[in-house]
Amino acid sequence: MDKHNIILIAHGQFESGFLSEIAEEVALEYNCSVAVQESQLDLMNFYEPTRRQYDGYKLLKEIDGMNIAGYTKKIGLFRVDLFIPILTYIFGQAFFKGNSGIASLYRLKNEQYGMKPDQDLLFHRFRKVIIHEIGHTFGLIHCHVPNCVMRSSTYVEDIDQKRHHLCCNCRSIIAVNEE
Ligand SMILES: [Zn+2]
Ligand SMILES: [Zn+2]
Repeated sequence: MDKHNIILIAHGQFESGFLSEIAEEVALEYNCSVAVQESQLDLMNFYEPTRRQYDGYKLLKEIDGMNIAGYTKKIGLFRVDLFIPILTYIFGQAFFKGNSGIASLYRLKNEQYGMKPDQDLLFHRFRKVIIHEIGHTFGLIHCHVPNCVMRSSTYVEDIDQKRHHLCCNCRSIIAVNEE
């Protein structure tokens, strides 16, 4: 997989160290180099006033259209509430076998569910969502192995059940796809 470089494009303020730690984890999981960059994208262009949320598909297309020399895969990171028309909200999404994905920590925060803030838990959840979306760009579909990071997650509790790693089956699919 050494022909891929991934760039995480951060929209909004993230805790210092948070993104660089995630970048390191992603680099280990996919055995490629990972960089972090900040973006000044005006998110109001993606706001849907009737839902008071941000259009996930438009954002994904925007990320996909960015031309960043030296990087084959681009993952947009957000703090805002993302939706697609058929779902109440999404944690993230990606182009299958594509080059782009998005993820937001908005719905990953304990505060959304009436619980006390937990930075550490938030970090683990966000890392799993990002690794999951990158998996789709490598051609992985949802996996049925209970603790595989590619298992689908509807609720935040589903994310907590998973590890942040690909199972060996998912790993071997990527290896074949990348041959
Ligand atoms: Zn998925
Ligand atoms: Zn798996």
